[in-house]
Amino acid sequence: MKNIKCISILLFIVFLFSASCRESKIDEQILLDIEDFNDSFHAFELNRGNFLPERNYISPSTENINGIISSNYNFNDDKFYFWLTKKYDTADQSTGRNMIAYVNIKTGIHHYICTDLLCKHTEFDECKYLNFSDIYFAEKNVFYTARMDDSIHTIYQVDLDRDSVVKVYKSQGSYLRAIGSYKKNFYFFEINHKTVNKETKYYENLKSIDINTKNIEEHGCLLEKYTDINASVFYIGNDKFYFMSLNKIFTTDLFFENETLICKIAEDERIGDYYYDEKTDELFFNVRNQEENTGTIYVYKNDELNKINMPHENIYCFQLTNNMIYYSPYDPIYYGTAADFQHTQVYDYTGGKIYAADKNNPIKAKLIFDAEKNFIIYNPFNSYVIIGDYLYFDDPELVEDGEFIYFNVAQKLEKVRINMKENTIKYIRFE
Ligand SMILES: [Zn+2]
Repeated sequence: MKNIKCISILLFIVFLFSASCRESKIDEQILLDIEDFNDSFHAFELNRGNFLPERNYISPSTENINGIISSNYNFNDDKFYFWLTKKYDTADQSTGRNMIAYVNIKTGIHHYICTDLLCKHTEFDECKYLNFSDIYFAEKNVFYTARMDDSIHTIYQVDLDRDSVVKVYKSQGSYLRAIGSYKKNFYFFEINHKTVNKETKYYENLKSIDINTKNIEEHGCLLEKYTDINASVFYIGNDKFYFMSLNKIFTTDLFFENETLICKIAEDERIGDYYYDEKTDELFFNVRNQEENTGTIYVYKNDELNKINMPHENIYCFQLTNNMIYYSPYDPIYYGTAADFQHTQVYDYTGGKIYAADKNNPIKAKLIFDAEKNFIIYNPFNSYVIIGDYLYFDDPELVEDGEFIYFNVAQKLEKVRINMKENTIKYIRFE
């Protein structure tokens, strides 16, 4: 999620520890002494509402998100994947490492992707699954990802069934940006820069790996007119690259030619969430005006862009499923002021409310969940995800330090699952 108006320096520190932001560019090793950092803070107690503990997990239909591609979650073979930050301590410091976990939504069980029962998922255990950030499934239980290893950026193929983690491409000191898999190829940009007359130019060379042969193919450099507007590919399909940039959403063919405009973005607007439905070839996205706090969902299909008429004109975030549009209007709850230099104000911009509209008749919507300040269902790093009747979210700690406050998602090895129909709750905890 890119709505980061409320990020403070403290939140930024939390961000460094938080794993799941798909926009993170560099998989750095983060070393901070958070023991001292935490001593003067205490958690703000939230009332937890009237939920019963979840006793039986009721398997929802996976049909409701199958075939929908999103930056907000990864879904493959009935498993919903997300990131946690494993922390471990040495004598003088604490360290955070990205670790990928999942919930099998057929069974409700959860696990790290490392299945070694003796592994504690730290460097000391030589856990091979640490520090993968953006992952792209190419086949059932096989994903591709980039990781920084001793300053060398490397593309990996991870086969979860075979428990294998294999290096498939090593950069020569350049940065690799994974973009996705398409037709048995995995695509990425190899990015170099040169500084001439104090001006730095970036060269983004498109490459692909054949999933079967592992052969590398070069496809040429992204045109300067696209690097100049920070254009980045967010989806590959229909022999097209789908780009998002500072001022427009557009497609090109796989040779960066035949540009087609999808939507212009004004200066005070930002793209929020987006979803590509591979079954219907529809792209849904939210355009937010950050000054006026308005937000509108658009759908693009067959070269046609249409605004979706909904009961709210101030949509802050949304989730698409095969039948529904779930969304939260801009309805900020103010929690306090962060301890950064600008004294950023800390909000849950969703107000904890989730509405549901029928995808085929979205003009009406109903309130299906109201956290009533019992939980923070949305934080600057992670959105909530709804699968069937179940709502998943991070439940960040609200930490108070004297007059200051911030969200802490860093040290919680946990997802919360609420069954909105049965009114049950489960804290899905990881060791
Ligand atoms: Zn492990």
